[in-house]
Amino acid sequence: DRMVSQDATMEDQSLEYSLRPQTLQQYIGQDKVKENLEVFIQAAKMRQETLDHVLLYGPPGLGKTTLAAIIANEMGVQLRTTSGPAIERPGDLAAILSSLEPGDVLFIDEIHRLHRSIEEVLYPAMEDYCLDIVIGKGPSSRSVRLDLPPFTLVGATTRVGLLTAPLRDRFGVLSRLEYYNEEQLTEICMRTAQILDIGLEMDAAIEISRRARGTPRIANRLLRRVRDFAQVLGKTTINAFLAKEALDRLQVDRLGLDHIDHKLLMGIIEKFRGGPVGVDTIAATIGEESHTIEDVYEPYLLQIGFLQRTPRGRVVTDLVYRHFNMEVPKE
Ligand code: ATP
Repeated sequence: DRMVSQDATMEDQSLEYSLRPQTLQQYIGQDKVKENLEVFIQAAKMRQETLDHVLLYGPPGLGKTTLAAIIANEMGVQLRTTSGPAIERPGDLAAILSSLEPGDVLFIDEIHRLHRSIEEVLYPAMEDYCLDIVIGKGPSSRSVRLDLPPFTLVGATTRVGLLTAPLRDRFGVLSRLEYYNEEQLTEICMRTAQILDIGLEMDAAIEISRRARGTPRIANRLLRRVRDFAQVLGKTTINAFLAKEALDRLQVDRLGLDHIDHKLLMGIIEKFRGGPVGVDTIAATIGEESHTIEDVYEPYLLQIGFLQRTPRGRVVTDLVYRHFNMEVPKE
């Protein structure tokens, strides 16, 4: 239950639907991705064809699910949603595919977690809109080809490197979502405040955005927590002072770092003189799994230049010492 976790909490999930922008125009930031999609969508509509399959990749909470829904909306078709871990057998996927209406968008979240045998069902479906089904068992079994309606697969993954080449190659559009800058997050906060009917001053939105780790989901969550403080204090509008107070109380520092980030960074400084130190060693010292460090804790620290990856392990940079008001060690 990290305040700054990029993954969706139950509360996030229950609210995210109403906070989702519906059109590309309402979707803030990710300009390159948006511009490309705009062209591809327009071209597909002019040719009255379905849109090519789209792979969206990037860290959690940056708006992949939102974008999939927008693609369906802009194409004027239905969205069907599922996820890699939810599809257990090839038959499950075959059932979903054969229930699609012509033109539908099928969104598969965490597509890197699809089992190989299920992935193989996708190949002919993506390429030729058909299903190869084996009827019967043993020597008398035979394979039958079933036609599917044309559809668009939108796959989302946080780990594009884990996708097999044959799957990746079948996507016509590959789009990488980037962390959002402060300005874009501020715009997202102002939009959310309007939808949730929260009085929010621009300076307060900026304060929240600075601590949101480049992630809309975190910005929206911090805004809701700050609103709680405002409510208890009987304030109808959130100003910068109140936002700062509340965020300090939530122990999210001015760069969006929390106690886990502090523990990790200070661990490297105090026990390993700033590194280099291997991920496995860091993991053992702070009592976490190595892959959690790599997938969850480290990406943002690398992104803001607090950590560096070297062949000999992780190193903290001068920025960390300055952030903690410590003297930068001389080499
Ligand atoms: P995950 O990969 O964890 O499923 P995601 O990348 O699919 O996350 P979303 O669920 O699409 O993330 O977005 C998280 C929240 O952030 C949603 O509430 C959405 O409304 C908001 N959001 C995301 N991107 C934008 C954007 N560009 N403009 C406005 N709001 C956004």
